[in-house]
Amino acid sequence: MKAEVPHLSRSVEGRVLFLTGAASGIGRATAHVFAREGARVALSDIDEEGARAVAAEIAAKGGEAHAYALDVTDGDAILDTVELVATDFGGIDYLVNNAGAARLTALDAPDFDDIWDWQINVLLTAHQRAVRAALPHLRTSNAARIVNIASTEAFGATARNSAYVAAKHGVAGLTKALAVDLGKEGITVNAICPGPVLTGLTEKIPENDRNTFAHRRTALRRYADPVEIAHMILSLCLPAASYVTGAVIPVDGGMIARNA
Ligand code: NAD
Repeated sequence: MKAEVPHLSRSVEGRVLFLTGAASGIGRATAHVFAREGARVALSDIDEEGARAVAAEIAAKGGEAHAYALDVTDGDAILDTVELVATDFGGIDYLVNNAGAARLTALDAPDFDDIWDWQINVLLTAHQRAVRAALPHLRTSNAARIVNIASTEAFGATARNSAYVAAKHGVAGLTKALAVDLGKEGITVNAICPGPVLTGLTEKIPENDRNTFAHRRTALRRYADPVEIAHMILSLCLPAASYVTGAVIPVDGGMIARNA
């Protein structure tokens, strides 16, 4: 008689998600997807009005969501917001580091250093600060999860994008390092690397250019809808995802797989 296959839960009901960059794109979709599954969601963004609007959308559908103004380049504000969230919700089970912005720049541009510092702060330093701030609360959860949003720019590089590319490669490295440090506590840490997604970050690219790029570069020949990224984030947070950690996962419509 073989041992029975154990049942692993696929429910996030009642769990608390703390999310950065929740007002738009992948963050907004993630907030909705978790709330639909019964999670309670703490939505932070530098765009406070935007985060409030998403919280109101979720509340209108019967979900539980609160909005918080947070600029992730402000380390003290990260600490304060995490404490506020933990008090409001009675704990934190999931941290999703998603906030981001991008600015292309040439290597010899006079403001290169400023853009470099800003990109590293928003996209990389903020991740470790949010993780360290949330750790005392994640440690009291019995299914703690951290998901960092990187990019396919964590594997290769687009021209004039060195600060963003360096930051996203850094997110991949940080994810592995955190997974190693936190593994003995059962806290999983993974990174998702979206390919092209139609969000606030990409909506200004003319539609024709977007379509041409997606057709030439992705296997699926299209941009992702943000909800397709959100579902991968949810999958990594399920109790059943308990053995996935330190993974840097492309969710890119087959962009990295495709050579021609
Ligand atoms: P988006 O512009 O729709 O959303 C980003 C959110 O982050 C916005 O609500 C914005 O207000 C917020 N934000 C920006 N700076 C902030 C700060 N300093 N503090 C707090 N919040 C801040 O873009 P998106 O595509 O949904 O971006 C989400 C993440 O996905 C980013 O980390 C981005 O780098 C990554 N990503 C996006 C794509 C894509 O094609 N859209 C591809 C790969 C990776």
